[in-house]
Amino acid sequence: MSTVNAIAAPSATDPLVRTTVERRAVGPRDVLIEIRYAGICHSDIHTVRGEWGKVPYPLTVGHEIVGQVTEVGAEVTRHSVGDRVGVGCMVNSCRECDNCKAGQEQYCLNGNVGTYAGTDRDGTVTQGGYSTHIVVDEDFVLRVPEAIPYETAAPLLCAGITTYSPLAHWKAGPGRNVAVVGMGGLGHMGVKIAAAMGAEVTVLSQTLGKKDDGLAFGAKHYYATSDPATFKELANTFDLIINTVSAPIDMGAYLRMLRLDGTLVAVGAPPEPLPVQVFSLFGARRSFAGSSIGGIAETQEMLDFCAEHGIAPQVEVISADAVNEAYERVLKSDVRYRFVIDIDTLR
Ligand SMILES: [Zn+2]
Ligand SMILES: [Zn+2]
Repeated sequence: MSTVNAIAAPSATDPLVRTTVERRAVGPRDVLIEIRYAGICHSDIHTVRGEWGKVPYPLTVGHEIVGQVTEVGAEVTRHSVGDRVGVGCMVNSCRECDNCKAGQEQYCLNGNVGTYAGTDRDGTVTQGGYSTHIVVDEDFVLRVPEAIPYETAAPLLCAGITTYSPLAHWKAGPGRNVAVVGMGGLGHMGVKIAAAMGAEVTVLSQTLGKKDDGLAFGAKHYYATSDPATFKELANTFDLIINTVSAPIDMGAYLRMLRLDGTLVAVGAPPEPLPVQVFSLFGARRSFAGSSIGGIAETQEMLDFCAEHGIAPQVEVISADAVNEAYERVLKSDVRYRFVIDIDTLR
């Protein structure tokens, strides 16, 4: 075991503080990573504040992790010392169920092990990436291509794959009309990836405040959802709508913007149920679906895709001491478009 510097939440209500966490000894199939950058995901905030259920404290969050391999176990074959690597939202799964065997570890029937606040297969509680080092099974460690700078690579591990997976699954590409709802951490990546896939991309944001950015990221159209005319004008328009907003929406109004056989995919999670009027599905054989991160192979595919297409998140790099302030700004949507902690400031 080793003790490493970290930032942790002492409780659901206290600010995060500097502390240390224990990392297990590097096992035969483990990789030790010296973390360079960790992204701040909205889920981190929901989790430390206990809004998604009870969690163990003190808790170190962070599941957008990039760094360098500094040690490998004797049986490790996928990674070597010095490799640029990343870790996303999960660090283990059962590997035996149908979904794991299909490469969909995020949907492990026995529950994947979350990067933080999860119980690993050895019984220990997992602690996330707001720390200087992490030990992870090699199968859950991704290669980060040289073409993607460290600090912008971090948010790909959650925001990137969360939008890439449904865009790939529902075939965003040439000739397809794709809308992205919300222009935050997830939304801005959804726009970049969908545009790189060749789809015609529309942003549906509350206001036109980020319109210039949206168009620069690859969107062709940008509409304000605060304007009721938007929903009339865009009725029966989209093959796919990716909803990144975690607040409740008027489901009927959004579903009616789907054309025949279109799908509305939720990737943001409002805590309350969303009522769906079935007639709005009948109208054009529409579907309402959900999607959660991506499998390990698909996450690697996403990183390689982003490197090939020269796309990466737009980030604001902060020091470890600015995390509490950053949380307040995330809650006010005052970030363009992802905070990333420079972990060197934690050493
Ligand atoms: Zn996340
Ligand atoms: Zn499984």
